[in-house]
Amino acid sequence: MALRDDSSHFDVVISGASFAGLALALGLRQALGDDLTIALIDRGAGPSASADSDSRASALSAASKRMLDVLGVWPALAGRAQPVARIDITDTSLDAGVRPVLLTYDNVTDAGDPATYIVPNSALHQALCAAVSSIASIKWIASAEARDFVSSETEARVRLADGSELTAKLLVAAEGRRSRLRQAAGIKVVGWSYPQIGIVTTVRHELPHDAHAVQHFLPSGPFAILPLKGNRACITWTEDADEARRILALDDAGFLAEVEKRFGGKLGTIALDGPRQSWPLEMHLARRYVGQRFALIGDAAHGVHPLAGQGLNLAFRDVAALTEVISEAVRLGFDPGDAQALARYERWRRFDSVVSAATFDGLNRLFASDLTLLRSAREFGLGVVDRVPALKRFFVGEAVGLTGELPRLLKGESV
Ligand SMILES: Cc1cc2nc3c(=O)[nH]c(=O)nc-3n(C[C@H](O)[C@H](O)[C@H](O)COP(=O)(O)OP(=O)(O)OC[C@H]3O[C@@H](n4cnc5c(N)ncnc54)[C@H](O)[C@@H]3O)c2cc1C
Repeated sequence: MALRDDSSHFDVVISGASFAGLALALGLRQALGDDLTIALIDRGAGPSASADSDSRASALSAASKRMLDVLGVWPALAGRAQPVARIDITDTSLDAGVRPVLLTYDNVTDAGDPATYIVPNSALHQALCAAVSSIASIKWIASAEARDFVSSETEARVRLADGSELTAKLLVAAEGRRSRLRQAAGIKVVGWSYPQIGIVTTVRHELPHDAHAVQHFLPSGPFAILPLKGNRACITWTEDADEARRILALDDAGFLAEVEKRFGGKLGTIALDGPRQSWPLEMHLARRYVGQRFALIGDAAHGVHPLAGQGLNLAFRDVAALTEVISEAVRLGFDPGDAQALARYERWRRFDSVVSAATFDGLNRLFASDLTLLRSAREFGLGVVDRVPALKRFFVGEAVGLTGELPRLLKGESV
């Protein structure tokens, strides 16, 4: 399988060693063994400098958890992963004395397992880094930036910022939303920025959360309370951009007062337990997911509004699908950059991510509107879902990530 055994040629080069890139390296190596040579390039300083600075926590679906299990990453993460037993959705005004819940999910799969786990991003990144670092056949090239590439019938040649070059049978961009290699491939994106900013912080609260998550839709965007291990929660809060800038500039007491106003008093007194961070929000979709000997995965391919907590889960779907199509092609005697395998990957993943991006965009618009008619419509809509168990199961199925044609890794099977 490895065509040349030298330090600059690999079967697969992955640019971007974050969640998607690391998981893909693990998936391909597990499926195809040490004969497949893989290089991971990242601007960052390498595995020992893992992303402690990311204070977000992600809602991982049961399907993503299954994949991490198969890849051997979950055991290192399990102690930090908080299962979510119930999700309450509300859109009550902040002035209301009581906050009636519009919709409640018992957040379990048909098999009775938790449908969602809240995992600190730093813990997930560390676990993935540790797993990749233990594999000698994956070469990690740190502090290296991919600048551009050219591809031919036989290989892709990627140029790094220091002028050096790597060649590969398949080049994968897992570079996040501002992917340089996507641009170098001439792949256009469609999308737009939201007039909103995502604010993230961690709080400690007096009373136990009992594994309940809350999604509170407010006119300026959703305020999510994601339970963490212990009496702690990660706040993922979408706010109108000007108001967000004002809130982010407050001192700790002022910032906490804004959080308290939205958090409510159900869990007793709260205190800040981590830094505040912010992200500009946008929706984008690449027009193509593949090119000659080239593929996009994760946020390099698509970016969705964080209100449904699905960006990372979509990235893991890409990883599972690409691992499967590449492994099958290689076992049939084709090389990892086989055009038909890449076309199959694109067909498999693009439709799903377009539908997800449109759904989350629509939900954001629906809940961000304070028009009376729309408000009654959404109350009616969610009220119906709350009363019909089959519909509820469908929505939980979406959150679980077990709908559609699933790649094997997401079913918890090896490739
Ligand atoms: C506020 C917020 C909350 C969110 N909450 C959730 C959630 O609850 N659940 C969920 O599923 N998703 C969530 N998401 C989405 C999720 O965080 C992203 O989908 C995910 O981080 C994408 O991972 P990635 O590996 O594709 O890209 P990234 O994490 O963006 O990583 C890109 C990597 O590529 C490297 N890189 C970039 N360019 C180059 C280059 N040219 N050369 C070398 N290296 C390069 C970077 O250094 C980085 O390591 C949230 C997003 C936001 C903003």
